[in-house]
Amino acid sequence: MAAVKQYQTDIAIVGTGGAGMAAGIEARHAGARAVAFEMDAEPGGAAITSGGGCLIVGSPLQQDSRIHDTPDLAFGDWIAWGGASTDAVWARYYIEHSLHDLYHWAEGLGVKWADLKFQEGNSVLRWTRPQRSGLGLTTQLIEGFRATGGEIVAQTEITGLLRENGRVVGLQGRSAKTGEPVEVRSKAVVVATGGFNSNLKMVLEYTPALRNQKVLVGSGRGSVGSGHKFIAQAGGSLTHMDHIWFYVYATPDYRDPAQHRGLVFRQVPGYIWVNQQGRRFHNEALSGGRSATPALLAQNPCHAWAIMDTAMTETMEIADPHYRDGDKVVRSRIMELLNNSPFIRKSENLSQLAQKMGVDIAAFLSTVERYNSACEQRLDKETEFGKPLKASKPFDTPPYYAVQLFPLARKNFGGVKTDLQCRVLDRQFQPIGGLYAAGEVAGMAGGHINGRAGLEGTMLGPSIFSGRVAGGWAAHAAGYGPGFAGKPNRN
Ligand SMILES: Cc1cc2nc3c(=O)[nH]c(=O)nc-3n(C[C@H](O)[C@H](O)[C@H](O)COP(=O)(O)OP(=O)(O)OC[C@H]3O[C@@H](n4cnc5c(N)ncnc54)[C@H](O)[C@@H]3O)c2cc1C
Repeated sequence: MAAVKQYQTDIAIVGTGGAGMAAGIEARHAGARAVAFEMDAEPGGAAITSGGGCLIVGSPLQQDSRIHDTPDLAFGDWIAWGGASTDAVWARYYIEHSLHDLYHWAEGLGVKWADLKFQEGNSVLRWTRPQRSGLGLTTQLIEGFRATGGEIVAQTEITGLLRENGRVVGLQGRSAKTGEPVEVRSKAVVVATGGFNSNLKMVLEYTPALRNQKVLVGSGRGSVGSGHKFIAQAGGSLTHMDHIWFYVYATPDYRDPAQHRGLVFRQVPGYIWVNQQGRRFHNEALSGGRSATPALLAQNPCHAWAIMDTAMTETMEIADPHYRDGDKVVRSRIMELLNNSPFIRKSENLSQLAQKMGVDIAAFLSTVERYNSACEQRLDKETEFGKPLKASKPFDTPPYYAVQLFPLARKNFGGVKTDLQCRVLDRQFQPIGGLYAAGEVAGMAGGHINGRAGLEGTMLGPSIFSGRVAGGWAAHAAGYGPGFAGKPNRN
């Protein structure tokens, strides 16, 4: 039998995405030793591949654009959007801390906030993008953790928690490279393993209504729900697990042998979606999870085709590292996808395209004709669904493409239930000694901070923030520092 590889530390962290790295930085600042374990070969998780957008209230970028925003205004939007199952206390906690404890704190680590973008449900612009998106932000967190003396042990999969007398006292796992067993002894554990939206079985377990549909998964490759499982085994409570945030603008990754992984594509101005009856069913400009997803789920069968002409594909981007080289889009790979995917049809004329999609040809041609005519008349909005036509043009540059879309599970809005110190709670709402959870494993923060719908930027932002909270309080429990206080921005 292989010898067990042993580690000893104050704070053991599982996962090196936004939450794990923020927890590590906080623990190191309090003076605790911290080691972060990562099953992948590289740190960063979903956070490093993400858009990097964080909802931040009262930022200098907003002030520069003369946008008046307040925690009260943001809280009102948040609750109205997320609905009754939103954790209002965590939402308020995050919103009030987003300026000092995320925006300025990240700047202190070298992050440069670049610009703001509108997202559905927000009464003002507050989705704040860092330079180089998730890559820029997460790289600074990883470097920040290492700079404080934090250690990252990669290619090490944690499989369980070590418990003694009801307390968590470490971790067990194995080397992903050699299979060698690993044992970690620590004074506290922070679980920051991300969500479970790359685990189709688990997604369908919590969304039984979708079991007969083709559903795609598309979070980080490590988002397989392992932290949920070992926390539940230790008695931790899982909550709102059915709150899964689906997007519609994804097509199967034909390079994935199982074709379960979805590729999200963007920047196709003016494209339209049609259902299997050849008809549009939604204002495509409202593409968010709360507006577009229910519209797609209401179609029978539950998929759609994104119709585009060649001119529209020229700015297309695919949110997957295979289609990028650093900051640059690799156009040849996008063309490879458009030409080779069995989920994409291509034709020199629209009626042949309809035939290849298997939709009603007459209905499809009349859908496109009506849309083209609205564009040619230079209407502000087309009349069927009210889509603004500013970025649209008629479909007139063949070849034409039809990209098949299926619902894509992207973000988990439910997860491990914690208190405001990120202590994992058991089914009687009592904290489990030595065990903390932050980030998407904890439904981004606390268990269900978003409720059923997110204003966007409300995943990564709360993940990083709750990571800081968890790291601070875990260090305190280990005998270091006062716990997380932060600086609220109240008005
Ligand atoms: C493509 C994409 C774009 C996104 N864009 C945005 C955005 O613009 N704004 C926003 O708010 N949110 C966005 N999100 C969501 C956001 O990125 C995540 O919610 C956030 O990264 C969660 O952070 P985390 O640290 O909890 O998890 P992650 O960043 O996923 O990190 C978890 C880490 O834990 C590791 N891990 C898992 N299990 C184990 C184990 N058993 N042992 C060891 N290691 C393990 C994983 O490999 C991973 O590295 C996006 C998500 C995706 C997929």
